[in-house]
Amino acid sequence: YPRTLLAVLEDFVIPLFFKEQPETPGDAFQVLSKIAGNCIARAGLEMAYWDWYAKSKEMPLYRILGGERDEVPVGISVPLKPNTQELLDTISAALDKGYRKIKVKIEPGRDIDIVEKIYAHFGAGIPLMVDANFAYTLDDIDIFRALDHYDLMMIEQPLLRTDLLMHARLQSRIKNSICLDESIEHLDDARVAAELGSCRVINIKPSRVGGITEAIAIHDYVAGHGIKVWCGGMLETGIGRAANMALATLPNFQFPGDISESARYYKKDIVEPEIRLTPEGTLKLSDKPGIGFDIDIDFLEKITLERKVYRADRAC
Ligand code: MG
Repeated sequence: YPRTLLAVLEDFVIPLFFKEQPETPGDAFQVLSKIAGNCIARAGLEMAYWDWYAKSKEMPLYRILGGERDEVPVGISVPLKPNTQELLDTISAALDKGYRKIKVKIEPGRDIDIVEKIYAHFGAGIPLMVDANFAYTLDDIDIFRALDHYDLMMIEQPLLRTDLLMHARLQSRIKNSICLDESIEHLDDARVAAELGSCRVINIKPSRVGGITEAIAIHDYVAGHGIKVWCGGMLETGIGRAANMALATLPNFQFPGDISESARYYKKDIVEPEIRLTPEGTLKLSDKPGIGFDIDIDFLEKITLERKVYRADRAC
């Protein structure tokens, strides 16, 4: 959470970064890799470095990363609602807005029934996936077999984060594709998952894996092993959202990303222009250098609670 991330940044990440003075994003990644875990804190600085690097080259970040398109299709994550009608209404509104993938959370006792009702209401063509947030075990195989009656885009993280072997066993016994989320924090996790056959899809969240460089390494590796990826998010402001959009332009991002528009989470975002969904359910990249969106400094000043300045000459 923010206070722990700030502590890790102040005590470890920023001093190390100032000391080592990386000159390329590759260097920056190597430097930050000296810190174990703490992926989100590391990603914050690593992604900022990519933005700065792209700006120093006067190029949009997505072009620097090798992106092949200037807009990305996106989906939306819908939390479980107290009643089914509310859930159906939320999905309906999201489809009307143009979102191209609907992700619904499931949990034991609220899974087959929910999926059945959604298909009954919207028909077989709805681009639906479910996210189980590791709430099940292999003993629940009958639930996943029942979900095989529906052609889901994928089932995200059905089992425990560390259970790549059990995911492989489950994947070999069901038709729907398993998508791994929390299980994949490093390229090594993706290697093991590919080797075991634990999934057919990976949800890459740059902040979960320590930044853009690791995200690209995972993207590239699994492309050669028949695993498709899509870009997830972690409630970023427009700054992180814009970086995720840039990453999602790479070719193996084959499903719409969970990169909703600014209005999904904020009354007003801190970037300008705000990130808006097109009627086609896409987000358009900007051709400005770096992440392509500016920080709305006036607004940021108004909502700032605390300010910290870090200087390289005082770091070590
Ligand atoms: Mg998830």
